[in-house]
Amino acid sequence: MSAAASRRYSQSRERSAELLRLALAGMGKNPAALDPLCYAVWYEHVAGLNPGLSRALLQGEGKTAPLDDEAVVRLYRDHIAPPDADDVARVGLGLQQTMQRLERSASQAGDHAGEFGAQLDSLNDLLEASSVESLAERLPGIARATAQASASIRSLQQELAGSRREIDRLREELDRTRAETLLDPLTGVMNRRGFDRRLAEVLCGHHVEHEPPCLLMFDIDHFKRVNDQHGHMVGDLVIQGVGQILRQAATTHQSSAARCGGEEFAFLLPRANRDEALRVAQSICEQAKGMKIRQRSTGNCIGSITLSGGVAHWRTGEDAAALTARAAAALYRSKQEGRDRVSVAA
Ligand code: GH3
Ligand code: MG
Ligand code: MG
Repeated sequence: MSAAASRRYSQSRERSAELLRLALAGMGKNPAALDPLCYAVWYEHVAGLNPGLSRALLQGEGKTAPLDDEAVVRLYRDHIAPPDADDVARVGLGLQQTMQRLERSASQAGDHAGEFGAQLDSLNDLLEASSVESLAERLPGIARATAQASASIRSLQQELAGSRREIDRLREELDRTRAETLLDPLTGVMNRRGFDRRLAEVLCGHHVEHEPPCLLMFDIDHFKRVNDQHGHMVGDLVIQGVGQILRQAATTHQSSAARCGGEEFAFLLPRANRDEALRVAQSICEQAKGMKIRQRSTGNCIGSITLSGGVAHWRTGEDAAALTARAAAALYRSKQEGRDRVSVAA
């Protein structure tokens, strides 16, 4: 993986100049300040890097209100700003405040229940003393305490229901935040970080009696030519197309797919013998070859693309880095031997 591909923005100077023009056109139509935040929002949108952001932006634009500073900040915060320690801390604080509120309500309900209990005790004493006058005197107090206890229990119940909703919402926010840091925005498959995590989980959870996990790596052949001949937007469509094939394959094989950077992909079969793994790899290559990508401006199909692949089965005791290196070496061999093929590591 090249250093450029591992960054958030890996577009070439020419492509980014084109994106700059497209972004400026969008920014010019809206009243928000032309600051770096606004540029990041429009850049990611026109580059097709951030489908969630594009959806939200197009929705916002379609409404009567144009994109103002507030909308830009919101789009940036929700779709670009990396979920960081602050986000996690905010969710944590939210949970803490909810729990404190709950604790206060519970303790208030407890106090009222205590008072109610004391009143009942004294009522009991009075009944034993069987003094009708003093009983009549105390009844309004007891009725008040009963009403108070019942009101505070009702309010505790409401507080509990509200807290439960708030906790569910915070939990969803945290899950979304976690998941987004592990996804590649262009293709929707995992990014390198997500894949490393998944690979570690699979290697660690593997049972010796099963077939070993198998790592497949793919790289689009002569991809630079696609960009050079048809432009980076078409290049992005090709990457998205390969991502979709892998995503689809992952659902049918209970596997995991990832874009490791640029035009490189990885696919993990939790267990597979040599023939199965080879079949899956070849099927992915065949589907990529059959892909029909059209140039938006002309509607013309671009020529077919091919993939080179490398397959490596995990060996007992091997770590993730060694397995990845063997799959990458097999992929390299496919390139050396003429591309458009799959090689299996020794
Ligand atoms: P090979 O068959 O040896 O793999 O040749 P190649 O041209 O595919 O490989 P090379 O590594 O020389 O070029 C990869 C190109 O992929 C260069 C880079 O500009 C382009 N690229 C990387 N990320 C993206 C992206 O997100 N979008 C587009 N359109 N191009 C990208
Ligand atoms: Mg490459
Ligand atoms: Mg390539």
